[in-house]
Amino acid sequence: TIGMLCLDEKGDIAGACTTSGLAYKMRGRVGDSPIIGSGLFIDNEVGGAVATGLGEEILKNVSTFLIVELMRSGKSPQEACEIAMDRIIKKNPDYKNFQVAFIALNKKGEVGSFCIHPGFTYLKYKNSENTELKSKTYL
Ligand code: ASP
Repeated sequence: TIGMLCLDEKGDIAGACTTSGLAYKMRGRVGDSPIIGSGLFIDNEVGGAVATGLGEEILKNVSTFLIVELMRSGKSPQEACEIAMDRIIKKNPDYKNFQVAFIALNKKGEVGSFCIHPGFTYLKYKNSENTELKSKTYL
């Protein structure tokens, strides 16, 4: 998955994601990426979130919608990503065998990210500068 979240100078938020799906997927499988609220969710009053990894887990938990709702109730993007991941981990004891990663952005331009396994990085582009950031990780 490629996921993008943008905040413009007027304070408007946008996002996009694209994916080829999972390797060896069943014919006809629909992953999380095309489902609003699972692979991607934006609310211009609050912020946005995108997800990558095992789409079934992201879909079952409507994770990016959850992240945005947590930010609406006052959580930082980082806290929101971690709480949404907790939900996946608590519900699926097999979590060591799959990856899920989130990034989130709020209206103040704060970002957060969380993944299950180490190795997920993302780029923050601001004032013509790219910064590579390492996601915090559960394991
Ligand atoms: N989330 C995608 C899916 O399950 C896979 C990916 O991360 O590209 O379809």
